Amino acid sequence: METIRERLEEDLRTAVGRLRQMGGAVAVEDVPGAIGDNSPFADEVDEIQANERREIGFATRELLVGRVNRLSAALDRLNDGEYGTCVECEEPISPTRLQALPEVQTCVRCQDRIERLGRQFDQDEDEVETVSDDE
Ligand SMILES: [Zn+2]
Repeated sequence: METIRERLEEDLRTAVGRLRQMGGAVAVEDVPGAIGDNSPFADEVDEIQANERREIGFATRELLVGRVNRLSAALDRLNDGEYGTCVECEEPISPTRLQALPEVQTCVRCQDRIERLGRQFDQDEDEVETVSDDE
């Protein structure tokens, strides 16, 4: 049977490997303003697609970096005997939750609260440019 430690180590290897794979290609596109307001794109569709590709690459990379950090933190906590305890409220995290997401550091309740806070911060960036036809 696979132990939590083996699972964490394997997930960590996989995430680091994927990050290394995409590292080179994404690094160039990460530079803010590389495709900026004075875009040389004549075709707006090309510009939108380039932006989407850049955002997907960036988001995936951010997710992987976050995953790597969480997995190594989880291994640290395993070594310290703190694994499975919520870092926010210090209540035990449910075994079902740990089985589904071995790298989590918070219980469902705290995770919920954190995600709600995160969404509040995100909302400022969610403004969508709308094109209006009536003048
Ligand atoms: Zn908690």
